[in-house]
Amino acid sequence: MALESDTLAQLCSTLRRFVDEQLIPAEAEVSESDAIPDRIVAQMRALGLFGLTAPEEFGGLGLTMEEEVSAIFELGRAAPAFRSMFATNVGIGMQGIAIDGTPEQKAKYLPRLASGELIGSFALTEPEVGSDAGSVRTTARRDGDFYVLNGTKRFITNAPHAGLFTVMARTDPAQKGASGVSAFAVERGTPGLSLGKPEKKMGQQGAHVCDVIFEDCRVPASALIGGVEGQGFKTAMKVLDKGRLHIAAACVGLSERILDDMLAYAVGRKQFGKSLADFQLIQAMFADSKADAYAARCMVLDAARKRDAGLNVSVEASCAKMFASEAVGRIADRNVQVHGGNGYIREYRAEQLFRDARLFRIYEGTTQIQQIVIAKALVAGARASAGL
Ligand SMILES: Cc1cc2nc3c(=O)[nH]c(=O)nc-3n(C[C@H](O)[C@H](O)[C@H](O)COP(=O)(O)OP(=O)(O)OC[C@H]3O[C@@H](n4cnc5c(N)ncnc54)[C@H](O)[C@@H]3O)c2cc1C
Repeated sequence: MALESDTLAQLCSTLRRFVDEQLIPAEAEVSESDAIPDRIVAQMRALGLFGLTAPEEFGGLGLTMEEEVSAIFELGRAAPAFRSMFATNVGIGMQGIAIDGTPEQKAKYLPRLASGELIGSFALTEPEVGSDAGSVRTTARRDGDFYVLNGTKRFITNAPHAGLFTVMARTDPAQKGASGVSAFAVERGTPGLSLGKPEKKMGQQGAHVCDVIFEDCRVPASALIGGVEGQGFKTAMKVLDKGRLHIAAACVGLSERILDDMLAYAVGRKQFGKSLADFQLIQAMFADSKADAYAARCMVLDAARKRDAGLNVSVEASCAKMFASEAVGRIADRNVQVHGGNGYIREYRAEQLFRDARLFRIYEGTTQIQQIVIAKALVAGARASAGL
């Protein structure tokens, strides 16, 4: 349900204060300790961040897409590891069940995901299956009232903390493509499910990924999301359309934050007897960054509004994710440049945010995969117009 505009404004201003007063001051601690402090996780729960998008009937705020991206513009201003803590619940870790789950699955899991009591992860990628997501090799063989899962999922965000995994597995081995894939809600602690060691990553310390391994892991047939086989890839794509807009919004938030940092540094630093901010070559980096961030914000909002209006936004979501993630990469790079030598030094946030931003061009579909989605739709449209 859409919020009143002053309620949304109030939510955004509360989130901005939370970011400025709690998250940004804790960035160095999180980066050093590779953990989000419990006090901050508790504050996230109290603010309802785990349930931003869960339907109200299940204890969430039920934000529309436009409201969700508006909230994420604010939350995205902090180092991305903070957002990662609750974002799998808001997005990929919950949406499979929220969009396509049976009434029983929704009632069983959504309230606990919305409160943050349960962390949800989304397990699609495998060691041999990344961009070509429809070729999932993990299998789910029906055995009476159970399915038996075998396979390994790779780089699963929040897996070390998750109590519930949305797992894509092949139920029909005769179908090599996406139509043989189904989605399952698998609980941590199910015999046959184990976790690999958390990976050491380039950036986003405080957010954790690891392998999720299934060895003859028996789950009840009621774990099949939506109760119908062969719908898993469709579920995954619906989750990712929404997820890509969420990620694009996070890129906008980080872009705007980095531009603020860049300006603050440049006005304070003097060379050749004047402020860095007075050099026109430096100013060009501000202007390019502002135009990048503004264009990304406009794309994300437009695509979010179209999705709320019930339109299919696969192409717009891919455009927004591609543009916003590339833009934040350019802005983070300019920020290092504006900081000069200090930009390369740990004490300043510029190098951290540069490393943190790099991931946005890779997960939830690389830039090349977004290009493929966009171009495929354009070519299909052109063929249809030409009657070919
Ligand atoms: C920190 C982190 C967190 C992640 N979290 C999750 C998660 O929670 N759940 C999950 O399921 N996955 C997750 N992933 C996985 C992520 O979505 C994949 O890494 C990503 O989709 C790319 O897949 P890949 O790594 O196998 O690369 P590959 O598919 O091997 O691609 C390698 C390169 O080839 C390019 N490429 C591939 N195919 C084509 C093509 N047809 N045309 C042109 N270029 C192509 C790619 O763009 C890329 O540049 C995460 C990854 C990381 C690093």
